[in-house]
Amino acid sequence: MSDLLIGGAETSTLAALASPVTVIDSTTSCQDVDELFRADEHLGCLAVHGDGPGRSLGLVSRVPFQHLMSGRLGYGKLLNTRRPVSALTDWSPLVVHAATGVAEVARQVLDRGSSQRFSEVLVADPGAPLRQVSVTDVFRALSGELATKALTDALTGLANRDHFLQRLQQCCTAPDVRRRLALVYVDLDGFKAFNDGHGHGVGDLVLQVVADRLRGCFHPGDLVARLGGDEFAAVVQLPAGVPVGPAARQLGERVRACLSGTISLSSIVLPGRASVGVAVASSVLADGETLLREADLAMYRAKAAGGGRVELVTDVGSTAPREQFAPDRRELQRAVDEGEFLVHYQPIVEVGTGRLASVEALVRWQHPRRGLLAPGAFLGAVADAGFAANLDLHVLEVALAQFSRWQRNLGRAAPRAVNVNVSVQGLLHPRLAPAVLDALSRAGLDPAVLRVELPEAATTTQLDVVRGALGTLRAAGVRLTLDDLGAGASSLHHLTRLTLDGVKIDRRFIAGLLDDERDAAVVVMLLELAHSTGIAVTAEGVETRPQLEALQEMARGRPTFVQGHLISRPVAAEEIALPWSGGLHHLHAHVPGPRSAVPTAPGPVASS
Ligand code: C2E
Ligand code: MG
Ligand code: MG
Repeated sequence: MSDLLIGGAETSTLAALASPVTVIDSTTSCQDVDELFRADEHLGCLAVHGDGPGRSLGLVSRVPFQHLMSGRLGYGKLLNTRRPVSALTDWSPLVVHAATGVAEVARQVLDRGSSQRFSEVLVADPGAPLRQVSVTDVFRALSGELATKALTDALTGLANRDHFLQRLQQCCTAPDVRRRLALVYVDLDGFKAFNDGHGHGVGDLVLQVVADRLRGCFHPGDLVARLGGDEFAAVVQLPAGVPVGPAARQLGERVRACLSGTISLSSIVLPGRASVGVAVASSVLADGETLLREADLAMYRAKAAGGGRVELVTDVGSTAPREQFAPDRRELQRAVDEGEFLVHYQPIVEVGTGRLASVEALVRWQHPRRGLLAPGAFLGAVADAGFAANLDLHVLEVALAQFSRWQRNLGRAAPRAVNVNVSVQGLLHPRLAPAVLDALSRAGLDPAVLRVELPEAATTTQLDVVRGALGTLRAAGVRLTLDDLGAGASSLHHLTRLTLDGVKIDRRFIAGLLDDERDAAVVVMLLELAHSTGIAVTAEGVETRPQLEALQEMARGRPTFVQGHLISRPVAAEEIALPWSGGLHHLHAHVPGPRSAVPTAPGPVASS
């Protein structure tokens, strides 16, 4: 296990490589030196005491010395035997301080002309005996360091994401290792706001403190990595003979506790707090990405439940049938009445300006027994119970009430619009348009602040049926956005049949944007289509900076919106209500050129 999991080594200086060197007098005869080399086959060089100005310290290396001693036609020995070694000494050896790093020494060696590149470097350290190191060892150490660097996160010295994923996959494909393999996923609570408030320099120091705490929290053989931003992960094999659930809980709690102490940096104090997800592989799981995704989701559940806690998922990849989950309408209505359906909000920002254009309302279920559930875990059951339209309306009401609170409390800093999803059942509900308009008027809101996201899964026939209702909504000022464009076969067809204000490019195309030419071509095509028809276009699932930069380039200055973990995960309403700067600053830092100015005054409401 530990062979697979061991992390990288530290940068070395020459002190770590050097070994003692014998120093001889410059008057020593070449014959005596020759005998010294013959007597010890490991003796690579000798240092020579200087014998005058410009000759303070010299070097005699085995190979060139012996070459000179044999000489052309074998006369070297005859000529040189009685001469003092000073005659065959290199009087300008490279002498470096013991604290010099190997990369610097390698540079100094290469800076010399080839006739001056001796095979050893002398290592001086005031007060200590002279030492030497072979140039071969310097280059070997350097190449080791470069290899380590490619695997290491430069800021924290932990493993980087690529290295982590590679090792994780190796662990998952080794049957003896993957059993009881636990992946711990950590995300700091409140880090984005802290980073924006105090600057990236201070943010980096916090990440280094966190990395040190994590190092101390795991065993030396465990692989600990920084995946990016303030997200960290580790893979650990749980001890045998202990039930998996309690062992995973104990591990997660240990990590949470180790990150819990306040972090003090001169005058700044950050309450250390993290959300932790732990996923444990089943004995059949052979896929590291699945384990990572499950741990990420568990972490996200911990965050969504308020942060500073641990959520678990055990037996990832197991084929054992899951417990049936089929709540009926009564159970669902009870959950609505008890306030178990929570609405989280994910920012949507404009790529050119970094301006917050809208937030998408996304439902979650804080289930009394199952914990916090993502929509994928219950929307199917909600639809099966015939309750989807009711839930849509509930989410709409919660989101609109929240939106008017933001408007009241935050004024100009409030989001300018809110996106709300509608299910196929909700779309087909005969009272769709009046119910939406009623909700808007009860909340006292201008219909133009609402973007209704139409499900890609709706069929053309279904959309034809609701054409009238959609027309009513649009006429009242509500904007219509087609969700998950490209996810299914029918959505391009929808584009031609519906009058839309916006489209959202499915995140699967963004995921492939940089690696798959076909995905990139689809994104370019959809951007061109939207821009040329004046429809607002949002790219969903932007997770990395290179994806964002590619989209900025493709947008070519035309209004284009992005949504994704890079900017922010969906968060509770209160987090949006903080003077909202997370996505703006975060994005702003990456917006090139003159477009990077972030306007502070609210512009016209963007149609995202
Ligand atoms: P959606 O409407 O396409 O919402 C975007 C989904 O992508 C959300 O998943 C969001 O958390 C996720 N997401 C956002 N950025 C990223 C990213 O960078 N990477 C990844 N991997 N995912 C990202 P969520 O919240 O799990 O919702 C899933 C779907 O459930 C939604 O997809 C929507 O179709 C549906 N849904 C959510 N809330 C509601 C609701 O209130 N009513 C209805 N009818 N459907 C809803
Ligand atoms: Mg949506
Ligand atoms: Mg979507």
